[in-house]
Amino acid sequence: MSLPIFHKAQRHPERTAIISDNRVYTYGELLQAADNFAQLLLQGESDLAEARVAYMVKPGFDYVSTQWGIWKAGGIAVPLCITYPLPSLQYVLEDTQASIVVVSPEFSAILGDYCREKGLRFIVLRGDLPEMESSLPELALERRAMILYTSGTTNLPKGVVSTHKNIAAQVESLLQSWEYSAADHTLCILPLHHVHGIINVVSCTLWAGGTVQFMPQFEAKKVLDLFLQGALNVFMAVPTIYFKLIEAVETMSAEDRNHLRTRLQQFRLMISGSAALPVSVMEKWEKISGHRLLERYGMTEIGMAISNPYAGERRAGYIGIPLPGVSVRLVDEQQNELTAGEVGEIQIKGDTVFQEYWQRPEATAQSFTPDGWFMTGDTAVVEEGYYRILGRTSMDIIKSGGYKLSALEIEEVLRTHPAIADCAVVGLPSEEWGETVAAALVTKSDLDLATLNSWMRERMPAYRVPRQYLLVEELPRNAMGKVTKKDVKMLFNA
Ligand code: ATP
Ligand code: MG
Repeated sequence: MSLPIFHKAQRHPERTAIISDNRVYTYGELLQAADNFAQLLLQGESDLAEARVAYMVKPGFDYVSTQWGIWKAGGIAVPLCITYPLPSLQYVLEDTQASIVVVSPEFSAILGDYCREKGLRFIVLRGDLPEMESSLPELALERRAMILYTSGTTNLPKGVVSTHKNIAAQVESLLQSWEYSAADHTLCILPLHHVHGIINVVSCTLWAGGTVQFMPQFEAKKVLDLFLQGALNVFMAVPTIYFKLIEAVETMSAEDRNHLRTRLQQFRLMISGSAALPVSVMEKWEKISGHRLLERYGMTEIGMAISNPYAGERRAGYIGIPLPGVSVRLVDEQQNELTAGEVGEIQIKGDTVFQEYWQRPEATAQSFTPDGWFMTGDTAVVEEGYYRILGRTSMDIIKSGGYKLSALEIEEVLRTHPAIADCAVVGLPSEEWGETVAAALVTKSDLDLATLNSWMRERMPAYRVPRQYLLVEELPRNAMGKVTKKDVKMLFNA
């Protein structure tokens, strides 16, 4: 049996699958290139038998045909971040014990010497490959398909192993919920070493027979130009990207803004995820585009789990309701299941949940309950059926003087202050309180901290108001644009 994604792609070889580097590629071309690449990888062997194939390939046709080729040959796909320096790449290569490394020509310098030194097979992609006639292995859905590294927001990134079955379940759930179709034309500006880009944008669109258009490096102005051209109808991004787009729109003329708004009306779906979407960003984007952003929640380990509805009410400040095929529960520290209105950890069960952390059996065991629920480490509450995320239990839930405070809730209020452009709230160790609340602020105009303090006290109980403020040029973020709170804490110690 061929894997479902290939089975789907074979239905319409003539249709446009990918637009990249100013070229249009059909599903037929994509499948052919993937077959040719699989043959090259196999070198006459019958099956790569779960060998790890790492690839540092620019988002676009080559990226997808490489990934599909690895899958067709029976390997495990290990996508590398294309902006990482050598030590971070080495971490992934060594951790996965990759035996084959594939690169776009522009990345051959960064990895070539290392691969030669370590005796790894090194493949530089240089245009078309010859067609070869021989069979490819039959793959069971239970086989390992991919190792993705977590963003490293809380700790060192861990390799998350997903099987083809996990990926299929993640895709099917979103296809049903977000109603992808062959008419979709999705813009991909996200990095392709995380689920957001690989699953939600690329795999879902291609699974449905739509078109993915790639822009390997995000530039707000170029994205707005593409929006103005009018072919696209689906867009997904992290909150920081929407923030940057809003800034760019604010420099446009009234006429261009009107034109943009008309074009954006043609979009069927615009999504935000990977980090909490500030209500102010959601509201501003709605004013600009007429679209209410659909916010959803997911993780490398589970794909997407909770999402605002496609058709129903999209609630600002909420991550939504469980996706089809995904079981979700909230539990307290004693693992008792909670009822609506109580605060606890999100736990997930279902075919979408990953198989294991790569070669970390202890970490895998520690992240599942005895009855098989995956412990996300995120804290949430359910209100009127909608989940509201309060943050990561280890970073965003600040324990101060017997209270458990949500950093995200405090950030949300700070962001409504006219002089504050962005902020990150953390807990700093305190002998007296356990932890005290501190906020790093990026300002857009003069801000008097004494006035800010009284402004905050009018809006929340005193125990939630930050005891310390720090003005910074920008917040420390990882490659996904997520604020890294351990680095924010360090700023206060510096
Ligand atoms: P690491 O596990 O290495 O610390 P990470 O958890 O950031 O990194 P990812 O798997 O990329 O790695 O991110 C998943 C996390 O992102 C979730 O656990 C959650 O904390 C956060 N997240 C995702 N979507 C949302 C959202 N809509 N609102 C708030 N947080 C979100
Ligand atoms: Mg995580």
